[in-house]
Amino acid sequence: MKRALFLLSAAALLAGAGCRKTSEQAPPSGGLDAKIARFAPTVITGDTSSLSGGDRKALRKLIEAVPIIDRLYLRQAWMGNEALLGSLSADRSAQGRLKYRYFLINMGPWSELDHGEPFLDGVPARPPQANYYPDNMTKEEFNTWLAKLPEAGQKQATGFFTTIRRDAPGTLTIVPYSEEYADLLQKLARTMKEAAALTTNASLRKFLSSRADAFLSNDYYTSDVAWLNLDSPIDVTIGPYEVYMDKLFNYKAAFEAYITLRNDEETKKLSFFSAHLQEIEDNLPIDPAYRNAKLGALSPIRVVDEVATGGEAKAGVQTAAFNLPNDERIIAEHGSKRVMLKNVQEAKFKNVLVPIARRALDSTQLSLVSFEPFFTHILAHELMHGLGPHTITVGGKTTTVRQAMRELSSALEEAKADVSGLFALQFMIDRGLISRAMEHGMYATFLAGVFRSIRFGITEAHGRGMALQFNYLLEKNAFSYNEKTGTFAVDFAAIKPAVRELTSLIMTIQAEGNYDKAKQLLDHYAVLRPEMKHVLDGLTGIPVDIAPSFPLAD
Ligand code: ZN
Repeated sequence: MKRALFLLSAAALLAGAGCRKTSEQAPPSGGLDAKIARFAPTVITGDTSSLSGGDRKALRKLIEAVPIIDRLYLRQAWMGNEALLGSLSADRSAQGRLKYRYFLINMGPWSELDHGEPFLDGVPARPPQANYYPDNMTKEEFNTWLAKLPEAGQKQATGFFTTIRRDAPGTLTIVPYSEEYADLLQKLARTMKEAAALTTNASLRKFLSSRADAFLSNDYYTSDVAWLNLDSPIDVTIGPYEVYMDKLFNYKAAFEAYITLRNDEETKKLSFFSAHLQEIEDNLPIDPAYRNAKLGALSPIRVVDEVATGGEAKAGVQTAAFNLPNDERIIAEHGSKRVMLKNVQEAKFKNVLVPIARRALDSTQLSLVSFEPFFTHILAHELMHGLGPHTITVGGKTTTVRQAMRELSSALEEAKADVSGLFALQFMIDRGLISRAMEHGMYATFLAGVFRSIRFGITEAHGRGMALQFNYLLEKNAFSYNEKTGTFAVDFAAIKPAVRELTSLIMTIQAEGNYDKAKQLLDHYAVLRPEMKHVLDGLTGIPVDIAPSFPLAD
């Protein structure tokens, strides 16, 4: 799972941000250039110099799989996509080029940042059933049919890897992906097998060959487990994964690919942090009774650099991290894995966060904003989700923080990971484990990042959690507002104790499972105050995201 909420809130905030010209003086492009300008063109690539000769050939082969994944995804999204793309690519006019460009950014004729509205004439509204179900099928028809199926049939019908079609008399039937997309999946399986034969890494070979088998057999279990165990300089995620495009039921998985290279430097940093997690837990600013004397194993995190993407991964706002697989059975038996795309994060940092910092931050603190503390804090955020209270006792009964906090749990948990991430890094700085040179940069970069998160609204968990932290820290004078310049600055003396206090406050509420206190805290702090709104209003024209180009895939 990755970015569904993020997309929703981004779309909500950006409604109408693209085209404001009146019809009288409509620009020749119909406003497409303005829509495109929201995505900063960016080169995304990685260093292949340390790959073995075999791996370099395997990488080239894997990149050949990308256009196949693209076609699979386009076909899944809408029946008309492949023909439309064909005619767009043939149109050499200036207007035609813009349409083609924006189609590729969205991987379809619907503009993701504008509520998914079509941006081409003659294109229907985005079908909620995508091309997974018959056009004229209703939810009711599906459910009535489903109820009459035997149990095994029900599992198939609601499974990730089948489409629903009509047979000759018009009855609904189940078609496995391996049949529905046989032409493309056979080609894809051959490419995977060839790449498997080229790589010098055993775990990659195992994943690629079992994935090839899955494309043909429609049984993805073994290859999903092989993906979890992948430990290779080339890290690949390829297949049908996310279910967001199935707006009817969220059952069916869309094809996508991330071809990436393992980032060894960041992987080392992660294992260094991981070695200190128990020490951090033992020093959390909460009642010692609430600390976990022995942390369990955390789910693995991989830091990689993207060199090519395919299918849904290309569409719209670019993914910066993802957690897979989504299959609950595999998660229960083998766990899941988080993949962080470092070079994508860096591109977003440069193209979105830095311009925001220029408008939102006091000019004397601008030079402190940099990528290293930004990414280090993201790693700390991910790790801190695993620390602090999880299983708790309320009124003599064992429960979880998530259950006790109900609908508030995500916003509070995201705020906890952020603020305790700052606490943890400060702790490591104070113990001499991280250079003190990071200290001020970490806080200034965090402040700039607040505006990037809240820009997408405060209804979604991350934005809401961020507003809570921002207003709390502002009240403690850890941040100050300059009315003349309309910018914010960090008070480096005040922020350290304030971060500790807020970490303590949130984790104690979680440990006590105190829903009422959590609600009071969020109601009071997770709001948009006038100074913040003023800064946000000044962010128009700053790109919303990046439009990557992949030199290694060209
Ligand atoms: Zn998080």
